[in-house]
Amino acid sequence: MLKKSFIGLVKPTIQYDSIIGDLPDPKMIAPPASATLLLEGPFDRRDSTLYTQGDPVKFGQKLMHSADSDSYVIAPVSGTINAISSYAGDFGKSYTAVDVAVAVAEGEEDDQFATQSDLPSLDTALDYLVCTPGTPALKTFRDPQYSIHTIVIYGGDTDLLVTTNQYVVKNRFDALKKGIAVLKEITGIENIILAVPGEFIQGYGHIGAEAKRVDTTYPAAFPQMIMQNILGQTVPAGKICEDLGACFMTAEAVASIGDAFEKRRYPVRKLITVVNKAGSRQLVSAIIGTPIGQIFHELGITADDRDRIIVGGPMTGSAVYSEDYPVMPDTSALMIQDKTDIPYVSDYPCINCGDCIRICPVNIPIDMLVRFLEAGQYEEAADRYDLYSCIECGLCSFVCVSKIPIFQFIRLAKYELERMKLAEAANE
Ligand code: SF4
Ligand code: SF4
Repeated sequence: MLKKSFIGLVKPTIQYDSIIGDLPDPKMIAPPASATLLLEGPFDRRDSTLYTQGDPVKFGQKLMHSADSDSYVIAPVSGTINAISSYAGDFGKSYTAVDVAVAVAEGEEDDQFATQSDLPSLDTALDYLVCTPGTPALKTFRDPQYSIHTIVIYGGDTDLLVTTNQYVVKNRFDALKKGIAVLKEITGIENIILAVPGEFIQGYGHIGAEAKRVDTTYPAAFPQMIMQNILGQTVPAGKICEDLGACFMTAEAVASIGDAFEKRRYPVRKLITVVNKAGSRQLVSAIIGTPIGQIFHELGITADDRDRIIVGGPMTGSAVYSEDYPVMPDTSALMIQDKTDIPYVSDYPCINCGDCIRICPVNIPIDMLVRFLEAGQYEEAADRYDLYSCIECGLCSFVCVSKIPIFQFIRLAKYELERMKLAEAANE
């Protein structure tokens, strides 16, 4: 809910919903007829020598571009490879889409993980659990640019309306506790903080982490805000929390690690908050790779022509253009907006009302920034108007009276600058 100050001089605030009492159990979505797994990196027929159409796939099998490839996905079903193709993600990200015709949801199992999971180790976790539900940031612990000393587990959700992690914290205490113990064992890091929203703070004394309360004002749940408000450290512009030695994971990611080592089995069901056109929400549990259209169908939601499907929450989610888009290990929310409710954007000029500046949690001079972004002057925007301090909360777009898509401009600018940096490095 948006609370605006009476005289308009203090920042308006938007509160996260923190659910008091029990959340209903998620609806179990049926296994899909075919599952699409998105493997990071472009599809190159010459490199992808490992699989071809018609190859059998076992539940739990690791699928990679090639034997020495860094990225992988774990098959959440048993079946046969239907097709392998390229898939273009947001901002030029390339994937290889492996489409598996499902024979049995959890049929014959590849036992590689089970045989290696007796004694938890970072090697095993890196080898099998990087794309488990919640996508734990395990690679960070081996990245030589970071020296991680603190793990922060967030037990709420960063976007509005989403209750996925709140459910995990309330209902999967044992898996979360086991995951925390495993993280300590495999990383050697004892300083683990469980950051929970508002009133949740009671009852986590014996979970193996120090429970800390996070404010319920959006965007207090963003890692940069938790760093500032709970750890007392400001993340400098252009840096990330990992640069200061803190690694962030969601409660679901940690519970997945706990489940995997407890049951010696790869977890494949992702919890998702689905928000329908009327704004009501429901939690579902779907196998990774399930087309989102199947989830809508089982919930009785119809996507009509020109309705908008959003993966993620209302403030930071991204639109997708097909109901075939699959559930990914980090898909925490799905929304569908009726075509008549889609907030419009405009090319009206900035009227200098100052609303965006008042609401921005990091005090960026957005009225000036937006002028450079609209003109495509991204380097000036970064050098003179603090582009890299932006934590991408989306509040400025939400309040802009001229309906300027500021947040989208900011994301595009960061993407373009990154591309320029990579191109320059390649030419050196
Ligand atoms: S998205 Fe907008 S409001 Fe949020 S931090 Fe960035 S500039 Fe500020
Ligand atoms: S809210 Fe929109 S119109 Fe107002 S100052 Fe910011 S960019 Fe300009």
